[in-house]
Amino acid sequence: MIAKEMEKRENEVKQVELVKPGVVKIPYSINNEQFEIIIYQEKTWYVCEVKELKKGVWKTLKNKNEWWIAIKDIKNEKNFMDTISSILDYYVGTPRILIPEKAKQAYTLLYQEEINKEKERTKKNIRQSLQKKEPEVDLVSDDSIQKYISEYTPIEETYTPTDLEEISSEYLHKENDRIFKLRKEANTAIGELAKAFMKRFEWDQIEIYSAYRDKKRQETLYETFKDKGTVAKKYSSEHELWLTVDIRIKRISGRKINLEKDNVYKDRLRKHAHKYGFHNTYQKGIEIDKINKEWWHRRYLGKELATRLAENNLSLAEYYDKKHVLSKNKE
Ligand SMILES: [Zn+2]
Repeated sequence: MIAKEMEKRENEVKQVELVKPGVVKIPYSINNEQFEIIIYQEKTWYVCEVKELKKGVWKTLKNKNEWWIAIKDIKNEKNFMDTISSILDYYVGTPRILIPEKAKQAYTLLYQEEINKEKERTKKNIRQSLQKKEPEVDLVSDDSIQKYISEYTPIEETYTPTDLEEISSEYLHKENDRIFKLRKEANTAIGELAKAFMKRFEWDQIEIYSAYRDKKRQETLYETFKDKGTVAKKYSSEHELWLTVDIRIKRISGRKINLEKDNVYKDRLRKHAHKYGFHNTYQKGIEIDKINKEWWHRRYLGKELATRLAENNLSLAEYYDKKHVLSKNKE
């Protein structure tokens, strides 16, 4: 009995059909009487027609010119379901269990294409927002361009990257023509930053006066300046990552500029360096960044993370702390 009821119900549901785009036919039988309700979708309303099978011939009970149903939001599923359910209920009465199912079938048939498109859009939006929310960041591995390095999170003593290049951009000046090296990605980026800077300030060029420091030099510097809080211990300086430069501005005419007093240049760097992937790691003072402020210090982090930090006014140390890694390492 139950199986038979289920079978009957299946048949009832299956019979809803899309006659052509925008037109669905909902057949219905009750007490051996058979009906057909046809729904025509117009622009912002539906038109309905009801037919009854009498002695093998379909007779129109309600002409479609007589029955207009306006729906404010024609593609809103709930609106559609409510309206169609009330039509079915009004015309056919019990068993009501089939009414919402038939309405649902009709809705799906009418809007399948748009439902699929909407699903795709939603999936895409979720994917995009997930990507935006949490960019792939590796603050831990020595060879990650985002490695957070500090006294508590030093690199391995033996760490040397395999993608080193000599800094060689024609837009860059190098102090006393010294040879500096950076990791490939950072080298490309400093070239782009320098080019944009020179385009903006015709006669002024970025000059690099420090990049990689070997361990011995880092140690000597630390011993000399440790009281000032401007130099990191060895294995814990960003300069040992081959991703970092200290810069100032060189006037091509030869005159050196005291950049510290020149807010135009500093401002330019502060507002734009992240677009090229560079971050001013030491910008908030020793309490936060573990090193005193160094406006000249630029560390390559990649555009995504550098921009994220700039837009949220975070220094790398703050970002790292936010991720609760530091506290774990201190234990
Ligand atoms: Zn530096």
